[in-house]
This record gives sequence, C-alpha cells and structure tokens, in this order.
Amino acid sequence: MTVLRTALESRTTALATPMPRVLRPQRAMPADAVRPTRAEVHLGHLRHNFQVLRRAARHAEVWCVLKADAYGHGSKAVARSLERAGATGICVALLEEGIELRDAGIRVPILVMGGYYGGATGELLRHELTPVVHDVTAVEAIADEVRYQATEPVPVHVKIDTAMSRLGARPEHVDAIGEAIQRRPELAVEGVMTHFACADGGDLESVDHQLELLDQATATLARLGLPPRVRHAANSAALLRTDRALLERVRPGIALYGVEPFPGLCAQLRPVMRVRTEVVALREIPAGQPVGYGATWRAARPSRIATVPMGYADGLSRGLSNRGQMLVRGRRVPIVGLVSMDLTMIDVTDVPGVALRDECVVLGHQKGPLGEDAISAVEVAAHLGSIPWEVLTSVSRRVPRFYREP
Ligand SMILES: *Cc1c(COP(=O)(O)O)cnc(C)c1O
Repeated sequence: MTVLRTALESRTTALATPMPRVLRPQRAMPADAVRPTRAEVHLGHLRHNFQVLRRAARHAEVWCVLKADAYGHGSKAVARSLERAGATGICVALLEEGIELRDAGIRVPILVMGGYYGGATGELLRHELTPVVHDVTAVEAIADEVRYQATEPVPVHVKIDTAMSRLGARPEHVDAIGEAIQRRPELAVEGVMTHFACADGGDLESVDHQLELLDQATATLARLGLPPRVRHAANSAALLRTDRALLERVRPGIALYGVEPFPGLCAQLRPVMRVRTEVVALREIPAGQPVGYGATWRAARPSRIATVPMGYADGLSRGLSNRGQMLVRGRRVPIVGLVSMDLTMIDVTDVPGVALRDECVVLGHQKGPLGEDAISAVEVAAHLGSIPWEVLTSVSRRVPRFYREP
C-alpha cells in the first residue's frame, strides 16, 4: 500500500508543471538559536535610511536593492518592512531571490538585474518578475515563453554596458537588441539602465561619460519606436553624490543598510546590522603561552583570554586574526591568535571585570559600564583589504537574524 501510494505520488509530481530546482538555503532561525551569536537587524534604522535616500533622490523613484538576501540582512523581513514604508519597487540579482520574495507575499514590482534565467523563464513570468535583458538570446527566450503562456506583453529593462565590461549590450549593439525587441510584440521596453563603475571614488567625469552613453542608447531605442518609460543608473554612491545621476529611478543598496559608500558622504545613515555574541570561556595564561592554531600569538605578559563562539564559518573572516577587534563592556579589545571555524579568542587583560556571558560586539555599537564605541563595516573591511559590501554579505546562515522594531 505504502509502495503504491509513493509510486502514485511520484507520478503526480512528475506530471505537474516542471518546477526548476531553485536554491532556498535555510538559515538558522531565532527560535532554534542556542548559541548567543546573532545578528540584530534594526528595521527602524532601515526605514530611516530609506527616507533619507528618498529625500536625496528628489523626484526619482527609489528602488531598493535587496540582492544577496538584502546584503545579509534577510530579504523577506527587509522587503516587508520597506513595502510597508512605501517602497514602490525592489531590485534583486537572481531569479531565485525574486521568487523568494513573491513566495513571502511581496507585491511590489521586482526587477531581476542579473539577467540570467537559464531554463526558468517560465518561473520569471509566473511570479510576475521584471526581467533585465542584455542580449538577443534573452529577448528571444522570454518572448517565446510569453507566447507559450499566452500572457500580456512583458515589460523588460534593457541593460547597457557603458563602462563595466560586465553585463549589458555594448553601445554598438543597442541597435541589434532594439531590433530584436521590435520584432517581438511579446515584449515591451519599460526601462533602460546601466551601472556605474567609478561612482564611489575620484571625480565624476566617468559618471558623466556613462550617462552620455546611456542617453545615446535611449535615443537609439526611441528611434526604433521603443522609448523607455524610465532610465536608471545610480547606485548609493551616485545617488548621494550628484543629482545628474538620478534620472527617473535610483537603485541604492549599501546606503539602505546604513553604510556610506565612502566616508563623509551622508552622515545621516544609521547602521542596520549589529552582530554580537558572548564570552563562553575565560582563562588566565602566563607570559609566553600561545593562543590558537599555529601558536601565531603568544602572551607578552600574564594575560586574560576570553573565548567567543563565532568563527570564520559564521562570517568572522580569518583575515581578522591578530588584527581585528571586538567590543566588551564598552571597550575595544584585540582578536588574538588565528580565528578558527567556530571560535575566536580576544585579549581582555585590560578590561576590568569581564565575566562569562558578557556581550561581545563584532559589528556595530556597544554601550557598556566602561564606555561606548562602535565597530563599523567600513572598519572591518579596512582590516581585511575588502569592502563593507563583502563584510555584510559574509555573515553566514549559521547566524540567526533577530529583527528589532523600535
Ligand atoms: C548592487 C547593485 C546596485 C546597488 O549598489 P550599492 O553600491 O550597494 O548601492 C545597483 N545596481 C546594480 C546593477 C547592482 O548590481
């Protein structure tokens, strides 16, 4: 009987519409969290940043970039919070990321910027996600699927490569992609977009040059009878630096999460993520005693070493070994020895009164009995020779996200 039912069930499954396997990694849930290691996500700060960006964007519509699980903050909760705060559109990189948001009940338009749909173009349409197209192959594939599903013409955004040499139609190929769209009434050009290569450093000459190329592409499409309704290019840096880049729509990511693309650009932003853990072991060691794998650090004096349950598998980069810092009781302390997979040691010799279960902050602000301080994503990135984007997106799925409303 059981065998029969299983066979029947698998037949039914096989007959159902073929569903592509999409990646839905499960993150540790707050209720399952035994370890005190967690990321706190301050949704009030997120909405504050959204309003700051809205003011900066003036007449342009703010489409929030929630790729990579909302830069590690958890895209479902972030999307719900922003939708309630009045966000009118979301950008993701992957089709899977768009589907995840639709499954979570998000209704606002979602632009899939990565431009890769593999064999899952049907899923794109079924979930009413807006595709970005950058080549003729994608135009044909989407148009075929629209015809097959007999749906309304699908709005698409045409991506133009104006400097990155990464994704997008080269300026000399805009004609070809435009003509391909012209031949397929199943598609309608809603937008034209590009991405800035150097908005977060140096002068704005390259931004202006890229805008010029975007203008030319827009004119080409208009000449083919495909005038885009919206143009967009600005990431956080461009949005905060120059009104010229605003166009009709902007696509900020990092600034939403409270990180300035470079120092001094917008002091009003508030960090959204705070990563904290607690001291789980404490020991006194004599001078000369080594700490951690490979004995890369040795106590120069009798020292007090605290162990915290967070390591590189949680996103605390091994590059912070003997280099990074944490906050305990409101004071900065150095990470000593190599960061291991699950555990890291800090030298608390100079912090009086450290006890088991004391909070250790890896990222964000702490106010303690001995003072007040903050470790920013920019600072951590500087230790690593990296960028805050990577610091935020590295906090792994082992670390549960706790959402905080003000
Ligand atoms: C990530 C991304 C953005 C957002 O960039 P930030 O620097 O995080 O503001 C905008 N547009 C595209 C195409 C992106 O990939």
